[in-house]
Amino acid sequence: MKVALISPGKDDYYAKRLKSALKLPPLTLSTIAALIKPGIEVALVDEHVEPINYDDPYDLVGITVMTSVAPRAYKIADEFRARGSKVILGGPHPSALPQEAIKHCDAVVIGEAEGAWQRLIDDFKKGDLKQFYSNEHLPSLENLPEPRRDLYKKGAYYLENTIQISRGCPFGCSFCSVSNFFGNTYRHRPVGDVVREISHMNGKLIAFMDDNIIGDPKHSKELFKALIPYGKKWVGQSSFNIVEDKELLGLAQKSGCVGLFIGLESISEASMKEIGKPQNKIKKFKEGLKILHDHGIMVMGAFIFGFDSDDRDVFKRTLDFALDSKLDLAQFSVLTPLPGTKLYEKLSLENRIIDKDWSKYDFGNAVFRPAQMTAEELEKGNGWAWRQFYSHGSILKRVFGMKYELHRYLLYFVPILTLNLSFRKALNFEAKMSKLSLGSLN
Ligand code: SF4
Repeated sequence: MKVALISPGKDDYYAKRLKSALKLPPLTLSTIAALIKPGIEVALVDEHVEPINYDDPYDLVGITVMTSVAPRAYKIADEFRARGSKVILGGPHPSALPQEAIKHCDAVVIGEAEGAWQRLIDDFKKGDLKQFYSNEHLPSLENLPEPRRDLYKKGAYYLENTIQISRGCPFGCSFCSVSNFFGNTYRHRPVGDVVREISHMNGKLIAFMDDNIIGDPKHSKELFKALIPYGKKWVGQSSFNIVEDKELLGLAQKSGCVGLFIGLESISEASMKEIGKPQNKIKKFKEGLKILHDHGIMVMGAFIFGFDSDDRDVFKRTLDFALDSKLDLAQFSVLTPLPGTKLYEKLSLENRIIDKDWSKYDFGNAVFRPAQMTAEELEKGNGWAWRQFYSHGSILKRVFGMKYELHRYLLYFVPILTLNLSFRKALNFEAKMSKLSLGSLN
């Protein structure tokens, strides 16, 4: 029996063109691959790094689907079904819209794979595949098998050491699909399991792929303490309130934290209220970012444009803040109502969703009618913020500006410059490829 697990790209030739981005391996797929019993041949095909060979004779094809690649995933699914393979769709999009997904596949996995996948494979072997698989209870995260990292295409990724230690998030921001997919809880793996997995990793740098590495601060403290003897360096995603817990932040630093991705989202109190993200205290942003820098942690701040309280000046105000607060990297997104989120429900009820082409749900296109500007202005403003932040002038100013903080300058000059230039390169690629409204970077 042969199984293929596929992560869709944007089109057939995406892998050929996508040379510039900081590519990370598809951890979801290697995690699912580890659930498949020995004796079944498994191939992992990541369309971001290699094209799909439809002539490979797979019995079962599993495709993980985020909303923006749903049309592509459906095309791949249709192709394989036409060749006689049974196709399974899973991930956030089919979990939110299973009735849409089932039109393109033989079975949909709703929610997390553990348990459901094993049942599905048994049913397939018996010739008794059901249309929908889900778990009655959220699966335990104890004793999870290690992801099949051996299946990654060799040399294709910036960093193979990615790991997930938790699922879910204790918060419930209106635009975020995490709670819908993982349940409104935060669950974590036992510290011993995580440390064992990390001890098997070669290389010094690790990326934690969790939506919030400090979702349970007590657990995070235990984990960080346990990590210290391994001398690793790590990057991850955290909520901003990490700066309010000195012990937690100190342990993060000691355990090797060198970079955090933080969803700052907005610099407007009204927008923060709209999102339902009380833990983001805007008045403390600048001070908090300085605290992180003082702990030797680089910060990528993420912002979203298009909230009802955002007017046409929001782009300039936000960019000024990002530059002024010395963010090392920034990400700007157009507010996107992903199916399954509270935001999607709200905008649907208000009849403000103007585009249901899922390929445009990529955080660069405006698929709804914003309250205080046009959809076009929103897209353009977002593209403008990207262009300004990653212009050559801005990069040089920000990187050389670090010389006033000598310790940081000596430690991070090269990585921050390299990362900024890599982002710039990736953005230029995306601008050519999609409608991020980026134009060319100066
Ligand atoms: S804090 Fe982050 S992961 Fe948690 S719900 Fe909000 S956006 Fe999602």
